[in-house]
Parts: sequence; structure tokens; C-alpha cells
Amino acid sequence: MSAMKYDPQAIETKWQQTWATNGDFHTDHTSDKPKHYVLEMFPYPSGNIHMGHVRNYSLGDVVARFMRMKGKNVMHPMGWDAFGLPAENAAIKNNIHPAKWTHSNIDNMRSQLSRLGYSFDWRRELATCDKEYYRWEQLFFLKFLEKGLLYRKRQAQNWCPTCNTVLANEQVEDGLCWRCDTVVEQRDLAQWFLKITDYAEELLADLEKLKGGWPDRVISMQENWIGKSVGAEIQFKVEDSDETIPVFTTRPDTVFGVTFMSLAPEHPMVEKLIEGKEQAEDVRAFVKRITNMDRIERTSDNLEKEGIFTGAYCINPINGAKIPVYVANFVLVDYGTGAVMAVPAHDQRDFEFARKYDLPLQVVIQPEGEELDTATMTEAASAPGKMVNSGEFTGISNEEGKAKVAAWLQENNCGEKTINYRLRDWNISRQRYWGAPIPVVYCDECGIVPEKEENLPIELPLNVQTHEDGRSPLPDTPEFVNCSCPQCGKPARRETDTMDTFVESSWYFARYTDAQNHEAPFTPEALNYWAPVDQYIGGVEHAILHLLYARFFTKALRDCGYMNFDEPFANLLTQGMVLMDGSKMSKSKGNVVDPTDMIARYGADTVRLFCLFAAPPERDFEWSETGIEGSFRFVNRIWRLIEELEGELLTVQPCSSTADDCTCKEAKSIRLKEHETVKKAGDDIEQRFQFNTAIAAVMELVNELYLAKDALKGDEKGRKVLSSAISTVVNLMSPFTPHLCEEIWEHLGHTERLVHAMWPTYSEEAMVKDVLTVVVQVNGKVRARLEVPASASKEEVEELAKNDANVMKHVEGKTIRKVIVVPGKLVNIVAN
Ligand SMILES: [Zn+2]
Ligand SMILES: [Zn+2]
Repeated sequence: MSAMKYDPQAIETKWQQTWATNGDFHTDHTSDKPKHYVLEMFPYPSGNIHMGHVRNYSLGDVVARFMRMKGKNVMHPMGWDAFGLPAENAAIKNNIHPAKWTHSNIDNMRSQLSRLGYSFDWRRELATCDKEYYRWEQLFFLKFLEKGLLYRKRQAQNWCPTCNTVLANEQVEDGLCWRCDTVVEQRDLAQWFLKITDYAEELLADLEKLKGGWPDRVISMQENWIGKSVGAEIQFKVEDSDETIPVFTTRPDTVFGVTFMSLAPEHPMVEKLIEGKEQAEDVRAFVKRITNMDRIERTSDNLEKEGIFTGAYCINPINGAKIPVYVANFVLVDYGTGAVMAVPAHDQRDFEFARKYDLPLQVVIQPEGEELDTATMTEAASAPGKMVNSGEFTGISNEEGKAKVAAWLQENNCGEKTINYRLRDWNISRQRYWGAPIPVVYCDECGIVPEKEENLPIELPLNVQTHEDGRSPLPDTPEFVNCSCPQCGKPARRETDTMDTFVESSWYFARYTDAQNHEAPFTPEALNYWAPVDQYIGGVEHAILHLLYARFFTKALRDCGYMNFDEPFANLLTQGMVLMDGSKMSKSKGNVVDPTDMIARYGADTVRLFCLFAAPPERDFEWSETGIEGSFRFVNRIWRLIEELEGELLTVQPCSSTADDCTCKEAKSIRLKEHETVKKAGDDIEQRFQFNTAIAAVMELVNELYLAKDALKGDEKGRKVLSSAISTVVNLMSPFTPHLCEEIWEHLGHTERLVHAMWPTYSEEAMVKDVLTVVVQVNGKVRARLEVPASASKEEVEELAKNDANVMKHVEGKTIRKVIVVPGKLVNIVAN
């Protein structure tokens, strides 16, 4: 080794092969060690690993390797989120079958990941486009159908004209397709929906269990998405009619302030209200115009508020007031009841509408220290306050009023307390080819018929020609479409929509626990041993979509008897992005650093080290040439240290030198630093994921070793101290730069591979300092810092402090009134 240059390519290949040959990262569920399941969000097989992947999997690999060293039975699997549009689009563009494209990308990315030396148990690898995977998803589909968790419904859907498919609400961001940024349109289609709303309350309540384990930001994003609001449903009687219009409100405390009502244009009562009225034709024209607008436009904040009077009135049940009924463009038929009680004095939207159509305002909440006047108000008053103009409720706080008014309405049979959610059911139908077939058929005799379990998997046919415009080839593939009805046996048609790929990623963590099982999705033994995932790592962009779906799936599968836990991911780490020139690396921007190039130049250990050292995991970091050079220098610095000490080092374990070995000042201080570094690096990794500061601590130890080595290598005891500390460096660095450390470990004469070593144990005894620094204050101001023997008594420390020249200067001519000694830290002298 001494004559050898550091050759990362050779070393890394050697150890990757050794680990693979020996199955060093294979695990099973029969171990008696405590389990630890580390999972990074699996990649989409786009073709090449990018720097974001490297960061994600390097973070996970540190956790996995560290936990193994802490004596855990660690599962760390890898697989492929392999269905989906990009494969289909790329396949169309390059005239290659999506299956072929996907599998060749997987092969390429697998070899790139292997080159990074991640400690994956590759026996558990899965690809969601394989029928061995999606057959179980089809089984879950049938179970959900049986349990009433799935239904088919025709309604307006988000449609991306570029992707030629529908999108779930979670996949529309600011009115644009999450994948291609095309403006999303509305289309009327019959689709399959998963009843995620059945779990709205539990999905919200169980966020409590995730607090502390998940970032607060992700928890609050999920809370907002679920959007629970508690309020009241109030019945407004239509004047001169037996009909009533129910209204949902989160503000029953403002019901005395209602001055008109707004209905959604699609509200079923509109026709009845305008029947025989002179306004009828105008209202119909208005309704037609608004219903032709798309939903995105209608829900936009910039929408100009518009409405029209129906000619009808209804009666406010709480005070008998007669109020006009309008149809308004901003009211949505599927939120609440599709009718809004308008309180223009206290709701901004209603305020704008009232000013535009000259409708009256009624103040019913008077904020403290203000005197609201409807004539001069320029905006709605939303602040809390005391109820006014509110009959028997006048004088109480509006917060108190919410419950009291709701109770009054309930007692008087004109309303009740209700709960509403923003969350909508999950549309899982996609009109694309490259996805898991939905296992139902349509029969003229029997209607919608689920496939029989024994007919699964319903295979996606591979011998199809994809269409250039992206339309699915399935509807015109007779071998696929034409089938016989599982119920009556007559000819029937198979469903040609495929499942949203987010269905596959909702349960893959469970399949890993038993990925080779051909009889079942997993056995309860394997799943219950490994679940839940102890540490999940991925990008924050999945805060709602994937993480909400996977949580729902877990609860739904639990209720179908497949799982015995409530939450899939106990702890979540969301990593930041790798930036270049201030923005996320992307091919289209041309600011990309290819990991493969970097590995060829510096080796995998250096690339890993830089991604871990550049910033704490949650933060974005900027790729820099000087940064990776710095990491490369540190790796070389460790290598050279061993080289320079060739022939001097002993084959010893970390933290194995004793106090007796420390015969000089350098030895004592190296041993102290060694143990301090074990403690600091371990705490930083385990408690805070502060990998960068853990690495920095080892760098300090390496610096001290360079400074002390010549003083220590001369005698047997000194060599032991040196060797122990170097063993410690190698062990502490092994989760970050595993190949380098494994190579040095072997060179140091160890026969057991480093991947099986335990994390070093520090001892308190080694960290006791001989000399302590004590601060001396006179009247609260620091006047001296003294090096004091750790064994000195309080009295001795006090004497030393009083005899310090600078301290003496500051107490001269004064009387010392009081001296407080905090051992090992501080002497405080009060004098006047
Ligand atoms: Zn799109
Ligand atoms: Zn039939």
C-alpha cells in the first residue's frame, strides 16, 4: 500500500464485488436483533441516475450502515417505480416499446447505483411494471371493490390535453398538470374512484402520531389538504314554498348578518326558484355561460365576482328576515351544499359581491376597540369580537357564539352541527397504456363485473403498437378488450383504463418485506416484522401526493385484513435539492453534473462524501467544484496518514487504548479527542441527521493525528494510542466512505470485514480532562481564563483566581464581598 497511489476505481470495484459475493447486506425477518427498516423513495427509471438520486440514496445509506453498526437488523431495499407516462412518451418518440425502454433503463440505473456502493439488499428488488407486482394490486382492487372503497362515477374531471389523460386533484398544481405544466381542462368522463374521503378524519387525526417523526411542514401541508372545517348546516325556507335550501357555514355566529343567499349555477333548486319569474330567461343564460367555464378559472382568486337575482326570497330561520336569492359564479356545487349564506359585513367575497350589486350590509360582530359603520367600510371585518344585533346572543364573544347559535338552530329544528372536508375521492383511472390494467369487465347482461381472483393477473398486452398522439392502444387491441363475462360467460368488454401509477407507489414498501413471494403480496410474518418503515427519506415535493396516498392505502389494506398497523412511515426525512448556479439541476437548463463523470474522476466515496458534507439533509446545496475537490482531499488525507505510518500501526479495535498507554501529553489528548469524536459523530448522526458536522468532527481528529503522529510512533504505547484512534477514524467514516474504510481496515490486518463492525463505544473515563479552562469574572466581567488541574479543589481554584495578575488589578483597593466557584467552569468575584 505504501507505494500505491489512492486508486478509488480499483478499491471500490473490489469491495462492491466482495460485499455482493458474501451477501453482506442480505437480511431476513428471523433475526433476533431489533429491526430497522430504512427506505428511500424509489426512482422512476428515466434512464440515468442524477445528483438528486445520489444525495437521496447516500443519506439513506448512511442511516442503514450506521444502524447496522448499532446492532440493528437493517433492511434497505431498492426498486423501480416503473409504470407511467414518461416511459410511454419516450417510447413513442424513439419508436421503442415502453417495456423495452423501461427495462433497459432499469439495467442501466441498477449498475449506476451499484457503482455507488449502496448497501441494498438486491434480492428484494422489484419493478412495478412486472406482473408479479401488479397482480397483487389488482387483487387489492377487487378487495376494495368488495368493501365499497371503490366506485365508478361520471363527472367532470381534470384533463391534461398534452398527456391525454385525467389527473387527480392532487396532480393539478395551480391549474397546471404536475407533469407537463399544461393548463388542465375539464372533461366529463366515467372514472374509478378510491374513497379516500372515508378516511379523512383518521388521516387527519393520525398526523398526531407522526409529530416529532415527520417534518412539521409536511404535517401542516397534509392538514391543509384534508381541510377539515366544523360548522353548521342551516335550513333556509323558501318564501311561499315548502322547499328549503340547506346552507353549510363555518360561521354560525354570523347568521344574524345574512343579507342575501348565493347559489352555485348548477344548484338543483335554481330551476324551481325561477319558475314563472320574469328573471327566468336571464338566469338560464347566466347559468349556461358560467357552467361552460372551466373549474380552474372558476376557483381562481382573480375571478371577477358575478351573479344574478333569481326573483326568489328565503327566510333566515334565526330572525325571520326575508333575503334575496342570487346565483353566483364563485359558488361551487360540490363544496358544502352548493349554497352560501352571504354575510357581506364579515366575509370579503360577499362584501365585494354586495358592493357590486348594491346589497345591504349588517354588522353582527364588533371587534374590540373599533366602531364598524356599514356606510364607510371598505372591506369585510374578519377580526373576532362581541356579537351585536344578534338577538339573545348579543354581548357574548363570537367564538362562544359559534357553538351557542349552532345549538339553538338544532333545538329549533332548523340546523345542525356538521363537518366538511376539502379532500375529494381519488380518481385512479388513467386513459393511458403503460399502467396496471383495472380488473373489471363490462357485460351487457350483468353490467360492471369484477374479474375472478383466479384470473389474475390481467396482463397488460405487450404486443401493441403505441399511437403517436399518445392515445392508448388498448381500446383497439381486440385480444385484450374482448373477453368473456366472469359471471354469465357471455362476450364482454374489458376496462381499458389503467391505474394511476401512484397506486403502485402506495404499497411498495410492504412488498419489499417479501418481494419474492409468488403466492401472496407478502406474508403477515414478514410484513409485521418489518413494518412500519422506521426511516423514510425523499423529496418534499411528495408531501401531499404520494405520502397521503400511501397513508390512506395502509389504512384501507388494514381494514381489508392485510396489515396490522396504521401508518406506513414512522419517521420521515425530506432532503433538499442539489442546485447549480442557484437552480435545480435540469437537462433543459443545461446545469447538470453527471454523477457517472464525477465517479470516474474522483471515485464513489468522494461523490458520496461531498453530497453528505455540503449541507444538512433538509437544506438545498449548491454543487461546487471546490467542494468536491475538498472532499477528495480529505479522502486522500486519510489514505496518506495510513501510508505515512506504514509499519507503525497495530491491528487493534477502535477505542482500545487505555489510560496506561497515555504516557505523554500528545497521547492523552489524542485519546481524549478520539472518544469525544465517537460521541459527537454518533449523536449527530442518530439524533439530528447532522451528517456534515459528524464528518467535520472526524476531520478534526484526523488533523490532531497528523500533528501528534511523530511524537507517538516512537514507542509501543504511543503506537497503540495512534492505532486505536486511526481504527476509530476508519469506523466512524465507514457509513460515508465505505470502500476506502474497508480497504484500510483490511490493510490494518483485520480479517473480519468492516461492514460487520460495531459502532465504537466511547468511555466517560477517557473524556475526563486533566486540565480545565476556568473563566474568572470580577463584578460580572471576564478578567481571566485559567488552566486549572482537573483535580484542584474549590479552595485551590479560588486561590489561583485571586492570584491572577489581571484579576488582582481589578480588585485593587476594593473589598472582596463574595466568591462563587462553579467547578470546572467559572469563578465569580464580587468586590466593591
Ligand atoms: Zn400533462
Ligand atoms: Zn355477464
